[in-house]
Amino acid sequence: MTILHTLGMPRIGANRELKWALEDYWKGSGNADALLGVARELRARHWALQADAGCRYVAVGDFSLYDHVLDMSTRLGVVPARFAATNDAVELDTVFRMARGRAPSGRPAFACEMTKWFDTNYHYIVPELVPDQRFALSRADLFEHVEEAKSLGYRPKAVLTGPLTWLWLAKARAGLDKLGLLDALVQAYGAMLARLYALQVEWVQLDEPILALDLPAAWRVAFERAYHGLQRTHPRILVASYFGGLGDNLVTAARLPIAGLHVDGVSAPDELAQVADWLPRHKVLSAGCVDGRNVWRSDLGAVLNRLEPLQARLGDRLWLAPSCSLLHVPLDLATESELDPELRSWLAFGRQKIEELSLLGRALERGRETVAEALAGNHSALATRRASARVVRPEVRARLAAIDPGDARRPSPYPQRARVQQTWLQLPAYPTTTIGSFPQTAAIRNARRDFRSGRLSREGYETRMRAEIADAVAAQERLGLDVLVHGEPERNDMVEYFGEQLSGYAITRGGWVQSYGSRCVKPPIIYGDVARPSPMTVAWSRFAQSLTKRPVKGMLTGPITMLKWSFVRDDQPRFVTARQIALALRDEIADLEAAGIGIIQVDEPAFREALPLRAGDRDRYLEEAVTAFRLATAVASDRTQIHTHMCYSEFNDIITAIAALDADVITIETARSDMELLGAFAEFEYPNGIGPGVYDIHSPNVPEVDAMVGLMQKAAARIPAQRLWVNPDCGLKTRAWPEVEAALAGMVEAAHRLRSSG
Ligand code: GLN
Ligand code: ZN
Repeated sequence: MTILHTLGMPRIGANRELKWALEDYWKGSGNADALLGVARELRARHWALQADAGCRYVAVGDFSLYDHVLDMSTRLGVVPARFAATNDAVELDTVFRMARGRAPSGRPAFACEMTKWFDTNYHYIVPELVPDQRFALSRADLFEHVEEAKSLGYRPKAVLTGPLTWLWLAKARAGLDKLGLLDALVQAYGAMLARLYALQVEWVQLDEPILALDLPAAWRVAFERAYHGLQRTHPRILVASYFGGLGDNLVTAARLPIAGLHVDGVSAPDELAQVADWLPRHKVLSAGCVDGRNVWRSDLGAVLNRLEPLQARLGDRLWLAPSCSLLHVPLDLATESELDPELRSWLAFGRQKIEELSLLGRALERGRETVAEALAGNHSALATRRASARVVRPEVRARLAAIDPGDARRPSPYPQRARVQQTWLQLPAYPTTTIGSFPQTAAIRNARRDFRSGRLSREGYETRMRAEIADAVAAQERLGLDVLVHGEPERNDMVEYFGEQLSGYAITRGGWVQSYGSRCVKPPIIYGDVARPSPMTVAWSRFAQSLTKRPVKGMLTGPITMLKWSFVRDDQPRFVTARQIALALRDEIADLEAAGIGIIQVDEPAFREALPLRAGDRDRYLEEAVTAFRLATAVASDRTQIHTHMCYSEFNDIITAIAALDADVITIETARSDMELLGAFAEFEYPNGIGPGVYDIHSPNVPEVDAMVGLMQKAAARIPAQRLWVNPDCGLKTRAWPEVEAALAGMVEAAHRLRSSG
């Protein structure tokens, strides 16, 4: 019997029920029972989906009210002192205070850090370790969920973040040897596993995605030590690796004293057979055979070609699962009634992926002929996809094939361009600007909603947006900023806005994926060759420029971010798609230039995030990413100033690539790191203009002028002052106008002080 299971389900709900329940609770308008009721209902629904599709076990413990890593930390009693609770048990509000800094009860404290989960857009709450860190079972939620599943008649497989991955992701003060905590940690895991066993849990899945990373030797050894330590506990352990191949960790993983190993057969299909070779006879191999990170229907015939020989070797020891948790895809395609039917027939969301699993299971069990009809349906959908005129655009292919290396080079090198630009721009020292967006007010969102629903005409909507732009321009002139922006009121989202206008992109109505806590994103789907039927931003930028004599910066989202924050095609290399997007942006830049826009910013906040997990894959990625950016921007004449923006603080390993982008100005996030990250730029002697953010836009606090002056002085100690800009860390769309005006007034004053003292 081929056992089917999932590593985890999306948890937000088909209609984002969890989001609304959480936000009600946080606002204080709901009570905990209402929230917990919604959560219980979602778990029950997701278990039913798994069981109905024939999964032998249902995943328990994958559900979380905020984040599964935070759940693990709090279960282990790893709660920083500033959240100190009255007793040892961790209460719900303590969990929320760790995540958000505040909750309906308990004293506010600064929230734990949050960062991206491997190379996904999901954020986890970073565990904080102290030198004498102790671990003790401190939350019973997992055990309650196990009881809940059992009472509904399911067989629970408990899902936990594995000890090594949890420890790897935890942050500790420099000098603290995290592995020194391993034995104590393993003991706490052991206690948890023993409790699960007492509840008759047969299998525990320990997620160890760090097995897909380049691991130091000490960590590989630690894997052996930890799992030897857990061997004595009774439930059978399935270690799950995903987000990449095991590579040089394969032998370590296969030899662990555990009962089963899950591997990602989608990102590393060839490894399945290798793992089967290495795996001792008694162990289960869970083959991740359906893509848990993307939205395409699987090629079931091809998957079966790989699985059948494995099944012949392993028999009942072969389990099937999606490659990773389904957390990273939307729940159900059924709600997408407005998607083009042909495109829809190529897609599979979470629920459809479980159905694929079920089909694969039946084909292995009873032979392909017993599911011949379904396989034929799958085959013909994929065949139409390959041949569809929606996918292949010969003119885009031809243009890509004709790219010349010269297309990716600005006419002159930076020093020359800088002189030409300064001649017409006449900017003062320490020029001031912002990152693009101004507050997305309720009025703006309502106008967009009314336009979508047909209550507001296109003309009415555009009039409203123009009024917003006029207000933003007037405010910036009043504040005395040097380089203005139009404020992006017309953009719901920096990727979706462009996705809506590019061919080859589709937008879903309800394809939500959890980003962090109650926050979800709705990535567009890139299904075909990308082309730009008409200008996307020119009218708005031209309008803004018509209102002022100061330069207005055009605002585009760069090719890597357009790629990374979308679901991408799996039928051609990513860099081909990136170049197609780049060419579409190239045309937009040419049109902006022709419309009199002399400064154009191409945002690449996802540039670093898209860096491959394995060091060996990085050079290739960086080269392609740089090429895409340059293809988009090199069309600009010397006179046009190209800006880029990246909002994060880790540049050391990508500084060469950042310089190779050859943007005239880069604005980055630095306020929270006290300008420390400028070190990478200083050491590299970064040659072009740079705007290190002088205040953190993530907080409503209005920054002190002195603090901003101080930060810029630190910057000027590292970067020649004539190449420095003064700007916030990121866009202002999540802020409110009063604080924005106050903060920017202070920022402009800071620039004046710097000018007069410099
Ligand atoms: N131009 C965008 C904005 O200001 C950039 C957003 C981002 O970097 N994430 O909102
Ligand atoms: Zn940003």
